[in-house]
Amino acid sequence: MPARLLDGQHIRDQLFEELQPRIARLRAAHRAPGLAVVLAGDHPASQIYVRNKIKACETLGMRSFRHCLPPTVSTAELLSLVSALNQDPAVDGILVQMPLPSSVDARAVLHAVNPDKDADGFHPVNAGKLMENAPGPRPCTPAGVMEILRRSDIEVAGRKAVVVGRSDIVGKPMALLLLHAHATVTICHSRTPDLAAECRQADILVAAMGRPEALGAEHIRPGAVVIDVGINRVKGRVTGDVNPQAARERASAFTPVPGGVGPLTIAMLMANTVSLAERHLGLAECCW
Ligand code: NDP
Repeated sequence: MPARLLDGQHIRDQLFEELQPRIARLRAAHRAPGLAVVLAGDHPASQIYVRNKIKACETLGMRSFRHCLPPTVSTAELLSLVSALNQDPAVDGILVQMPLPSSVDARAVLHAVNPDKDADGFHPVNAGKLMENAPGPRPCTPAGVMEILRRSDIEVAGRKAVVVGRSDIVGKPMALLLLHAHATVTICHSRTPDLAAECRQADILVAAMGRPEALGAEHIRPGAVVIDVGINRVKGRVTGDVNPQAARERASAFTPVPGGVGPLTIAMLMANTVSLAERHLGLAECCW
């Protein structure tokens, strides 16, 4: 039987629908939730991501504040902007689009964001909350993957999950979220000796490597659920980290690229911002 396609756009639309009454309540009682987006440099993919995030705010009736800075921006200038946004009462969430220009101390800038306005969930305080499974904003891409699994009725508890990739923004938080959902989790990376053998153990295989179609049939256990986080641009075409034909033929369900995990990343950013606004405005009973 061919694999079930896990449609991220459909799930994104569901999430947007659920956010709408929460946003309407905030607007009626106080003000619209506000997201500040900081873009430094002229990275073409970042410009597209930022545009899509601003568009999502507009679709949902949220406020957005775009700050575009030249590639020559200094760490001090960025720190001063983040400090102003931390103090701005109209701003509930701050997102600093990565990558920053190489001359900037990206870690210092991320650490300067007030953890209470950390829409991306990257601040070490929020990474600590994730570690101890305490409430807080979660990194958007792995949180989006959990929504795909949950809303597609894919059981996680008791199953074996393999995450390929150990970055701070995808692989590590993904592994922790799966662990908190009671999966048995293996994390693989570039020094894993027999990647295919590890991957074939997986009931749920999450690929977050940034290597176009690096995982093929030999990595997929028949009937596994395959989540492809990768976004790679090859000759003007976007591909994932998994060969789609192999996923279609061997998996029970898989996320396409594009249209799988990507839409959820933006949806979770919106959800984090709304939750932060609810907290700032004292309507926080439904946070996270
Ligand atoms: P990073 O480059 O930070 O991390 C890649 C990880 O993959 C590293 O841990 C690396 O191992 C591992 N890796 C690389 N090559 C191999 C290999 N041959 N075998 C095993 N492991 C390997 O990437 P990110 O985590 O930031 O992103 C991963 C992918 O997800 C990218 O394609 C990115 O574009 C995409 N992405 C998609 C999003 C979405 O919304 N769908 C959002 C964010 C990212 P090591 O640590 O040993 O170097």
